[in-house]
Amino acid sequence: MSRLLIYATLVMLQTPIVGTVERVIDGDTIRVRMGDRVETVRYIGVDTPESVHPTRGIEPFGLAASALNRTLVEGRQVRLELDVESCDRYGRLLAYVYTDSLFVNAELLRRGYAQLMTVPPNVRHVEAFIRLQREARRSGEGLWAIEAGIQVASFPFQGADSEKASSGDDTIDGDDIIVFITRTGAKYHLAGCHHLKHSRIPIPLSEARNRYEACRICKPPGK
Ligand SMILES: [Zn+2]
Repeated sequence: MSRLLIYATLVMLQTPIVGTVERVIDGDTIRVRMGDRVETVRYIGVDTPESVHPTRGIEPFGLAASALNRTLVEGRQVRLELDVESCDRYGRLLAYVYTDSLFVNAELLRRGYAQLMTVPPNVRHVEAFIRLQREARRSGEGLWAIEAGIQVASFPFQGADSEKASSGDDTIDGDDIIVFITRTGAKYHLAGCHHLKHSRIPIPLSEARNRYEACRICKPPGK
């Protein structure tokens, strides 16, 4: 039976997937032993700075994220919760990871050691994750140096902060604004856009700008 089929079956039967963390690779990737197999598991919904990047070398915050991840899970038994897609193109298992007492993906966001990375269709906990990142930013946790307010951008877009704009700083701080993507589209939208009729997944503008195109109808802030 293929790996994908095995995991799909486990999920269907609601069998808990449990294992022991053999090794922490970095802030968002671990190696988990489950019986006689060891899987590389990538946390869903979060992205930590690289600790050992192939070209950029070691990033200071990446080491901190790795260290935190190690204290949270290394050597422990974990339970894995899968979402719609169980593997990524590198063959890593995609999971929400829980210890006895913690939801690890959420904890990394809460402490500001990870940023949101929303990849449909794996969006089960996206609302909670956005809240946690927002709170972490507001209280300046971890890698969030600057305190900031958050706003949802709706159609028609009124501008992030007219006071800021008039003081000469006309760049919009994309991390503070929530826009929306759909399950299948390549564009991001403002709340109220008719393209959001069937699905509507909140995402920070900063993230949307990097990975999606601005909708031409509702015209969210661009790059
Ligand atoms: Zn739109």
